[in-house]
Amino acid sequence: MAERKVRVRFAPSPTGALHIGGVRTALYNYLFARQHGGDMIFRIEDTDSHRFVPGAEEYIIESFKWLGIKFDEGVSFGGNYGPYRQSERRDIYKKYTKVLLDAGKAYIAFDTPEELDAKRQEIHNFQYDASTRMSMRNSLTMSKEEVDALIAEGKQYVVRFKIEPNEDVHVHDIIRGEVVINSSILDDKVLYKSADELPTYHLANIVDDHLMEISHVIRGEEWLPSAPLHVLLYRAFGWEDTMPEFAHLPLLLKPDGNGKLSKRDGDRLGFPVFPLEWHDPKTGEVSSGYRESGYLPEAVINFLALLGWNPGNDQEIMSLDELVKLFDLHRCSKAGAKFDYEKGKWFNHEYILLKSDEEIANLFLPILKEHGIETPMDKVVTVVGLMKGRVSFVKELWDTCKFFFVAPEEYDAKTVKKRWKEDSAERMTELAALLESLDDFSLEHQEEVVMKWIEDKGYHMGNIMNAFRLTLVGEGKGPHMFDITAVLGKEETIKRMRRAIEVLK
Ligand code: GLU
Repeated sequence: MAERKVRVRFAPSPTGALHIGGVRTALYNYLFARQHGGDMIFRIEDTDSHRFVPGAEEYIIESFKWLGIKFDEGVSFGGNYGPYRQSERRDIYKKYTKVLLDAGKAYIAFDTPEELDAKRQEIHNFQYDASTRMSMRNSLTMSKEEVDALIAEGKQYVVRFKIEPNEDVHVHDIIRGEVVINSSILDDKVLYKSADELPTYHLANIVDDHLMEISHVIRGEEWLPSAPLHVLLYRAFGWEDTMPEFAHLPLLLKPDGNGKLSKRDGDRLGFPVFPLEWHDPKTGEVSSGYRESGYLPEAVINFLALLGWNPGNDQEIMSLDELVKLFDLHRCSKAGAKFDYEKGKWFNHEYILLKSDEEIANLFLPILKEHGIETPMDKVVTVVGLMKGRVSFVKELWDTCKFFFVAPEEYDAKTVKKRWKEDSAERMTELAALLESLDDFSLEHQEEVVMKWIEDKGYHMGNIMNAFRLTLVGEGKGPHMFDITAVLGKEETIKRMRRAIEVLK
């Protein structure tokens, strides 16, 4: 058989913000598609109208735009297999529901919710299946005339899949190997509801994967229990030959303890579980996002790529292009992946280092503006070059380097107590005079002159430098002293020294 063209889909239901686990699913689909020169499709599964949340679809599209995950086809991207929004494909699902009904692979059931409840009371662990269906109100137990009459009367019904019992169903999963379950544990799943004239997830999902020629279904582990049913549906339609291959990805687990990562874990431990900030239109609740929290999209991608997969060695920093080359579904783990949020911060730090000083300076500029700082770009670039190694987020640059842009107004009491000695005012007055006399205020020249002065006078190097730092920074932190003075320039350096001497003497 000729190799099939790789076509994968990411098929979210627009029920709210996209969870970070969903982002990872989309990423793995993307990496797989790119690696095989295949297509990546964006399908919206919105047949459950009760769970529809306005804005969710746009949110999902914007998230991937930010992350740089590109789709070839789908809602908002176009393509030849559309429409890609399931609510716009009603007629297609109706047609395929009829195909199953005509073939005797599905049947119509009229049981009302009350009747089903009564059965559940009556029969312990009631399940609508081969063992019970012949005692229910459906097209298997009623005459065709009765069924037609009820439908003509406008009675609501559902279409159920007729699952043959006692059959081993094999699901071939790229990550998990062969998964076998017995069909007797499955119930006759509802495939279609007359009430809203819409299919359920199962039918729509299978019909679309078939019609859209999906070659691989890569999705979260939570869908694994549906896979046997999906295999049976492919068979019922006679589509076994084009059935996609399955890969069910490992769960994302809480950073601490056991269980699935939830939004509550993020709230509890202080990290986002959504790519972008999300404003819940129903509750008004605002949830933080990776973008607004200051993450670089490259860092988020790299972090997520390694949650459930590894390249087989200890390489950690990988660009999207490298990931496309290295990714391998066979190397995905079966076991859940702990969501190590600290590692996410580390990746952001690494990506700040990898980016040019100019790029980071551009991200820092709006923050400077917010603080009322208007300053030449080359100064910002220099400061960023000196300081970016100290932060995990661009926004942390303000606290770390504001002294480059604003003179200290106060001097940290603890540092003063420890570092400002008896003779500090006198020494700093001398040093200010020395610096003022310099024509060449370059870093190298200053350093040479000042070191020689300290040596000639026999001063204590540490004491001088600590006091000097206090006058310029207002506290005990910061980079190399002459890096600071070179950025501040002669005038500002001396002004700050004189003021500190005034205040602290
Ligand atoms: N609509 C499902 C979801 O929200 C799709 C599951 C699948 O990929 O089959 O994740």
